[in-house]
Amino acid sequence: MSHIYETMDTLVKGIVKQEAILVVGLIDTKTVEKARLIHDTYPTATAALGRVITGTLLLSSTLKKDQRLTLQVSGDGPLREIVAEVDWLQGVRGYVRRPHIHLGLKNGKLDVGRAVGKGFLNVTKDLGLALSYRGTVQLQTGEIATDLAYYLTTSEQIPSAVSIGVYVDTDNSVKASGGFMIQALPGAQNETIEFIENRLAELPPVSSMILNEMSLPEILGDAIGLPIYFFDKKEIHYHCPCTRDRVLDAIVALGEKEIEDMIDKEKELTIQCEFCKKDYVILPEELGSVLKSMRS
Ligand SMILES: [Zn+2]
Repeated sequence: MSHIYETMDTLVKGIVKQEAILVVGLIDTKTVEKARLIHDTYPTATAALGRVITGTLLLSSTLKKDQRLTLQVSGDGPLREIVAEVDWLQGVRGYVRRPHIHLGLKNGKLDVGRAVGKGFLNVTKDLGLALSYRGTVQLQTGEIATDLAYYLTTSEQIPSAVSIGVYVDTDNSVKASGGFMIQALPGAQNETIEFIENRLAELPPVSSMILNEMSLPEILGDAIGLPIYFFDKKEIHYHCPCTRDRVLDAIVALGEKEIEDMIDKEKELTIQCEFCKKDYVILPEELGSVLKSMRS
């Protein structure tokens, strides 16, 4: 068994030595495979969900204590919508609206762009203390990495390059997933940015570097071609914080009339978490106490 299955999924942060260039890289093969198993996604849907999860994790590198971030991609293609949420500890969860989508290959690659279609990319950040931030851009390609780079450069005004790759094997399992983000901070020199851009144009896909068992420092070293000082390393995991209480809170949205009907018919209600597929069975008595709290 190769070492990529034995090590934890991780995210690293670094800065190009003597330069104002931030580098974030991650390998999340096991996390994306877990998402595939939870949602029973077909290969094109797996790649799309994996790319959105990876993109969300890249963005999570800037979150501070207790902050959360949601990345939503909605398009007119067959997948309809892909959502991933992440917390400041790199606990991530996601879903794709229509998981049983697989399209033919395009140039030997899974055709995520066509499966997503034309639409929008939304980023919502819950910054705590009732502060939130929301940014929206039109999808450029639907391939996710280019759309994220466009979002960062135009909406957050940080010139960025983003590369994301998910490799789905012939048995439909995820054999490699990961990506990196390179950001020019104020003071970055134009010559250095051009030097890195030229290297990126020649770089093999990040998924094939992960398949070749390269480490994150090796991948980022090849991408940048300059010495990097790494200052942070974090574990990534699939994590769904859903609870029975949160489900009960959400039932309020059904409205008093609907809840009354279910109590009258002594019907129990089954609600499934869309992120982890866990079923919550709510008994009529519990519905009664929800109704009581709504009226108090
Ligand atoms: Zn859940």
